[in-house]
Amino acid sequence: MILTGATVVTSLDPVRIVRDDVLVTDGCIASDGGGGGELHDCSGCLVVPGNVCAHTHLYSALARGMPYALEPPQNFVQILQRVWWRLDRALDTDGIRASALVGGMEALLSGTTTLVDHHASPNAIDGSLDVIEEALRTLGARSILCYETSDRDGPERAQAGLAENRRFAQRVRREQLPLTRGLIGAHASFTLSDETLAACADAARELEVGLHVHAAEDDADERDAEALHGMRVVARLAHAGALDRRTLLAHGVHLDDHEIGLVHAANASLAHNARSNMNNSIGRARLNALGPRVALGTDGIGSDMFEESRAAYFRLREDDLGAGPDWPLKRLAEGARLAADAFGERGLGTIEPGAPADLVVLDYAAPTPVAADSVAGHWVFGLSSRNVRDVMVAGEWVVLDRRLTRVDQEELAAEALGHAERLWKRLDEIGPHQFEPKGGRRWPSPLTIE
Ligand SMILES: [Zn+2]
Repeated sequence: MILTGATVVTSLDPVRIVRDDVLVTDGCIASDGGGGGELHDCSGCLVVPGNVCAHTHLYSALARGMPYALEPPQNFVQILQRVWWRLDRALDTDGIRASALVGGMEALLSGTTTLVDHHASPNAIDGSLDVIEEALRTLGARSILCYETSDRDGPERAQAGLAENRRFAQRVRREQLPLTRGLIGAHASFTLSDETLAACADAARELEVGLHVHAAEDDADERDAEALHGMRVVARLAHAGALDRRTLLAHGVHLDDHEIGLVHAANASLAHNARSNMNNSIGRARLNALGPRVALGTDGIGSDMFEESRAAYFRLREDDLGAGPDWPLKRLAEGARLAADAFGERGLGTIEPGAPADLVVLDYAAPTPVAADSVAGHWVFGLSSRNVRDVMVAGEWVVLDRRLTRVDQEELAAEALGHAERLWKRLDEIGPHQFEPKGGRRWPSPLTIE
């Protein structure tokens, strides 16, 4: 396959551009023409690396517009108790599959080729990651999956969640699934007992994969850790042996200087979810203090990384005029780096020789010059997922002319409607979750410098 006529952004950090054919052989970017190949006309297009969503929840894909009849939530914990911890308990295997298909479809159509998913379905745990893997494989998306281990639904489900992570990570390795990797998933400090957290850390170490865990998304997580464990969230993770260079923390909004120091010392990664943080009114992540190992996720608000990266940028600029338009590109490159680590594919996230051919063809009639020093400006002020025309994952076209190539997308959406109705009906019969974090009201922490 030879992509012809495009301006190619071969790397997002640093930005590199070539105006040359892109050769794809055996699923990877090849270095030299030489032989022939099928031509794919990309004249006038911009070709960019496939986007990586570093933290999402595909299980929430059928939540949009669902009815809500309870008292409106007043804080983050109530949002979990009254919305997400009801939805996850309503999920069965059909609902998991339909959610993954809808979420995966929308990801690919918006130019996201890799999804780092964090799944919860307490009444359908065993085999749930296989269901998601199969749905995403059907579509042709790349994924890094885990199950959200938690004690909030009792010790049996905590054990079942961890067992699902272990089983799936072992299956990925045994079957050498090309487009999927497993992590050990855990919900958050405030729903994890010491025993469960230690078991998650052990599993991650033993299987040599990362732990994917929410950390200090809301201050309630910190208060709980201080009240029950006498230390803050990241200190608790470190104490449990759950913080290393493979660890992926989600949110980290309330991390103090000491915790950020621990994250840096461990060289762990953090997925920043700007729109979700705004939507839940939980505060602002300290992005400048957090530094370079910050990737971007959607936390389940779709998987459109053009939209997410722009929103994250504008939210940051509101506080910090020093942030340049290259900031979102560096964050997206960081997401690709952590995916590359998980896959053991060094070039993932670039369009450079040897890299897996995950790329997006943008139909973009640039009205101003496109060069290495102007790509960031185009990204933030011009491009969006409406420009996504074709999408390739591992050398295969999974979207052509804005349509999925492997699945009938109208049929998929029509089937999802039925599943959504059944899911919402079950949800209606489930009351608010009774689990409460400890720690009561906020008090000043000796470790908090702000
Ligand atoms: Zn999340």
